[in-house]
Amino acid sequence: MKKYDVVIVGSGPSGAAAAKGLVNEGLSVLVLEKKRLPRYKICSGIIFKKSQDITEKYFGEIPKSAYVSPEYLKGVRFWSDDENYKDYPFNKDGLGAPNIWRSEYDYWLVNNSGAEIKDCCALTDFDDTDDYILLKAHDNLSSNVIEIKCKYLISAEGGKSLIRAKLDPDFEKSLKWFTAYQNYYEGSSTLDPDFYHGFLEPQYGEVYAWFSVKNGLQIFGTAAAKGKKIKPYLLKYTELLEKKFNLKRGKIVRKSGCIGNNMCPEGKFYLGKNNVLLVGEAAGFLNAFGEGISCALTSGLFAADAISKSIKSDDNALELYTDLTKRERKQTTTSWRLGARLAGRDLMPI
Ligand SMILES: Cc1cc2nc3c(=O)[nH]c(=O)nc-3n(C[C@H](O)[C@H](O)[C@H](O)COP(=O)(O)OP(=O)(O)OC[C@H]3O[C@@H](n4cnc5c(N)ncnc54)[C@H](O)[C@@H]3O)c2cc1C
Repeated sequence: MKKYDVVIVGSGPSGAAAAKGLVNEGLSVLVLEKKRLPRYKICSGIIFKKSQDITEKYFGEIPKSAYVSPEYLKGVRFWSDDENYKDYPFNKDGLGAPNIWRSEYDYWLVNNSGAEIKDCCALTDFDDTDDYILLKAHDNLSSNVIEIKCKYLISAEGGKSLIRAKLDPDFEKSLKWFTAYQNYYEGSSTLDPDFYHGFLEPQYGEVYAWFSVKNGLQIFGTAAAKGKKIKPYLLKYTELLEKKFNLKRGKIVRKSGCIGNNMCPEGKFYLGKNNVLLVGEAAGFLNAFGEGISCALTSGLFAADAISKSIKSDDNALELYTDLTKRERKQTTTSWRLGARLAGRDLMPI
């Protein structure tokens, strides 16, 4: 049975940042990822300034292979109806925000963390004993069950976290969920490809409806409370794009979907228990309008810092992590309040 100081479950930006911070402190770290890497992640792939700054500081320049065309986006264009919009520039005096494929960016991050990585391997259970944490994982390639021992466990699993559900079933039951869909079409439209577009009218979705272009693909989607029908929203939104913005849909290249929850807008963070810490979306870090890479990176680094300090000083890692993330948590909840003000309505009515 292999033993590590820390096992991180999930190889997204929060997992990669935690891994980088821990490896830098000389700890032995394993990242478990259930999918085959590089893995697809539903996302608009916009690297906001804060994410870019953290990425460059800890990992270096984002490789050109992660960029798509257009390489930089000038800003967000929020449409209050089908005629009127307001622009929010990303980086007024610079190039704008990198427009990337998440599969490439995330893979590059985790590969640069220096941690051992095991993909195609899903955590299925864990047991937190007095001395260590025992993990059970399913190796999807060999179909074997693997057992791993560690001192600390980090959940970087994204919004749906098996670890969070096991640590606190009552908290899990209290969560409300939404479904998001995103389609990728070959084709064209008159919407400016240098902007990320958000349509705020509730007739197109319960959170908001979005549109962007990557390598010529017309990418758009919307979200609704889980259990509610999302198709009528998507049909109405597609009709708007076709009628007002001359969307021409060619071959469909990808249909994707995911679920998310109401932890973020309500400030219901779940940071962990004993020697198990949660980072990124698993902990509730997701900013308004679905910007989540910056707080995933930040919380991952804070968890690494808390664990390293705890090992050196015997202080409690969860207490340190709770303290370190205070400002980031405040910023996340504030972002939802500001977003609601901008949209003129509750941004997560689920
Ligand atoms: C439609 C959409 C568009 C978005 N656009 C943007 C954007 O443009 N910019 C931005 O900043 N944010 C965006 N976000 C948010 C951003 O994608 C997330 O906030 C971010 O990916 C969270 O990072 P994470 O590391 O917490 O989790 P994730 O990136 O979700 O990574 C979690 C990883 O854990 C793995 N995993 C889960 N369970 C297990 C298990 N049991 N065993 C092993 N592995 C497991 C998963 O396979 C996954 O790879 C968008 C989100 C959506 C839904």
